[in-house]
Amino acid sequence: MEDEYLQRLNAEQLKAVQHPHDVPLQILAGPGSGKTKVLTSRIAYLILHEHIQPQSICAVTFTNKAAREMKERLTKLIGKSKVEEVKMGTFHALCALFLRRYPTRVGVKNNFTVCDADESKSILKRLLNSYKDCLEDNHLSLDVRNVMSMISKAKSRGQSPHDLATRAKHFGGHTPTENVIDRIIAELYESYEKFLRENNSLDFDDLLVYGVKLFSQQQTTNWCRHVLVDEFQDTNTLQYELMRHIASSSRCVTIVGDPDQSIYGWRSAEVANLAKMKLDFPATVQIYLEQNYRSTASILRASMTIVSQDQTRIPKTLHTSHPDGCIPVLRRFPSEQDEATCIAREIKRLSASSGGMLGWEDFVILLRMNSLSRSLESALRKEGIPCRVLKGQKFFERLEIKDLLAYLQLVDNPEFVPAFERVINVPARGIGDKTLGEILRAAHAKQLSPLAFIERIHDGRVPDVKPPVKRKIASFVKAIRELRVTARQGTMPADIIRKLIILVEYEDHLKRTQPDADTRWENVMELINFASEVQTELNDYPLQDLPDETTPTGDKDWDDMPDETEVAELDEEGIVEVKPNNSKTTAAQMADTNLEASTPLRLFLQASLLSGDSGDGGEEGGKEKVTISTCHSAKGLEWPVVFIPAVEEGTFPFALSEDANEERRLLFVACTRAQSLLYLSHCNKRLIAGKQMDRRLSTFVKAVIEDTPVCDIFAEETPELDRAHLEQMAAILGRQTPNQDVVVQKLAEFYSTDRYHKFMPTSGNALSTTFVAADAVYRTDTDKAI
Ligand code: ATP
Ligand code: MG
Repeated sequence: MEDEYLQRLNAEQLKAVQHPHDVPLQILAGPGSGKTKVLTSRIAYLILHEHIQPQSICAVTFTNKAAREMKERLTKLIGKSKVEEVKMGTFHALCALFLRRYPTRVGVKNNFTVCDADESKSILKRLLNSYKDCLEDNHLSLDVRNVMSMISKAKSRGQSPHDLATRAKHFGGHTPTENVIDRIIAELYESYEKFLRENNSLDFDDLLVYGVKLFSQQQTTNWCRHVLVDEFQDTNTLQYELMRHIASSSRCVTIVGDPDQSIYGWRSAEVANLAKMKLDFPATVQIYLEQNYRSTASILRASMTIVSQDQTRIPKTLHTSHPDGCIPVLRRFPSEQDEATCIAREIKRLSASSGGMLGWEDFVILLRMNSLSRSLESALRKEGIPCRVLKGQKFFERLEIKDLLAYLQLVDNPEFVPAFERVINVPARGIGDKTLGEILRAAHAKQLSPLAFIERIHDGRVPDVKPPVKRKIASFVKAIRELRVTARQGTMPADIIRKLIILVEYEDHLKRTQPDADTRWENVMELINFASEVQTELNDYPLQDLPDETTPTGDKDWDDMPDETEVAELDEEGIVEVKPNNSKTTAAQMADTNLEASTPLRLFLQASLLSGDSGDGGEEGGKEKVTISTCHSAKGLEWPVVFIPAVEEGTFPFALSEDANEERRLLFVACTRAQSLLYLSHCNKRLIAGKQMDRRLSTFVKAVIEDTPVCDIFAEETPELDRAHLEQMAAILGRQTPNQDVVVQKLAEFYSTDRYHKFMPTSGNALSTTFVAADAVYRTDTDKAI
């Protein structure tokens, strides 16, 4: 039945879903209260009941993974074909999508390359090198990461290099030292921008900067009329501006958010955007949701107690109708190895105790930082538990993947020097750093891209290169040319990659140079798989490529959008008149190497780059694996069982963080991912940066247990999952309660492993009947074996 999804909502959720579409709406609520569910249902409602064109809806998620999940949920409600028309993705992905289509309106070329964080870092590192003497003379040091973050902050505040330079001059720091730093940062910012422009590239912040520029133009008001934003508390100024521009004429805007979960202040997110929205959209209505559907009552109680210690916080009600469940566990271990081993064993025990109701994919280990994952990964491996690590751009950061993507970037944008530098010697072509430096300098002097420059080397116009090197360069140039022709023909990305690895003999190169060539080759195959997936999306997801006049979408708004290859003029009423321009000579195309506006290759590059920002690293296949993730990447997600190790001072709050309340909220976000079981742990000693350090329990938790009797909030013993617990868990997770015989058998198998005695529940604890039964089976089996 079409309305069934509405019947599954509570009264407040329904009110939010059915709220008039042209009255701005803020839905503010705690974790697990169904904000994302409401947002998804509202999109369905707008389409099914209010008959809003799906193409005019723009749904913004915080990660690409969240966009995929929303797409899946929405498909169940309104069907695939309608979902495909909704524009869905992160602010960055949406900007990239529109900029690809209308680059010249904001003065960029259509084959721009998006620079990832790694590339930005290496560009800045090189620029920073030229300040080495100046810094040393002033007894100063400047870390490239700080420079990156300062430039990024300036960009997100809309400050130009000139603004920073003026500020440095007039309001420079209090001391001469600060003055020097401010001046250097302003200069670096300017050189960095110059480099990006010369290389026809945009960094992640630029996507938003140019996106805002594009959407502030009058002609764009009809592109999206309805904007819905998830996780609004973590939007930065540019993202807010983008939203404001998109919704400026229609006022059709819905946001959901939770100030208690604002955890990206360090990346310039502004929780104040909530108040700003009320000023910019004065008719804004607020709806509060107060029922949590995710977690047991005791998990919710522990989480709320932690976050409530923030005196600056606005109190909020959140209740649940779920039963108490097991009290969250707080355990202390001598060392991180003990902690990791115990977590791995506990995962095994829980899986057995649940009679298989909990699979590996139901467990997550949430970390404050990636560096904590090594001991956990190895403990899980020792226990034979498969795991996947969600670590930012892990997959796309691998050497072999970066090599191949750099080749493809160069095929798409010959002006992109970082890609050229990466692959000119992969496989080795006898071009040392010195020769490379000369090539780059000479190309720059002649105002040619390095690729265009070396095309002349084999013509003999650059004399200093030895004949064997010349031959290798010639084959490199030939490969790129061939691939460019293939890409221009619209060949699918997976086939282009296949051709590339043959042309440059990449497998041989890996075998010759890498000890783990086999694994790396598997990753290359994985990249081809990823390309095929994107390809399928390209085939049946037209939004990846905005429709142009030749695409019969039947949608008025889209049809009104002129192609970049056409001349658009605004008449006096602001109505776009489209005049086909047969000569097709826009500035971008003249500069371009004749690639079509959005070749499949270009869209693939975009997808590979932007799939990393979600923190899922493009790695799918999380089925039947325990997840290890950072707390930040876990935002918006939920798991039946959550472990949070290293809840210690220095980690929570993180020693380098400037905002303790944000750290507390991060711990709150982590705890509230749990549906049925939550484990916090800490160690007496931990290896930090190669040194054994004494560790203390985090004040966030210490303060809780000082204020409240420990046993009310946290338990010190691991819980025995008895029948009643299993039934409750099955109800919360919407699963079948496991058969008792299966539970007993699985537990017996678990207890029969080597470390059985070490992990037996401590004596004095009342043992559950299940345990006693499993123990009996175990003993019988052991006796038989003897
Ligand atoms: P977060 O702040 O962590 O992002 P959220 O507020 O977005 O959380 P959702 O992820 O939408 O919450 O929902 C949490 C869980 O509660 C989901 O499993 C969802 O299906 C379930 N849920 C939400 N509303 C209801 C409801 N009315 N009835 C049953 N289950 C619900
Ligand atoms: Mg959510």
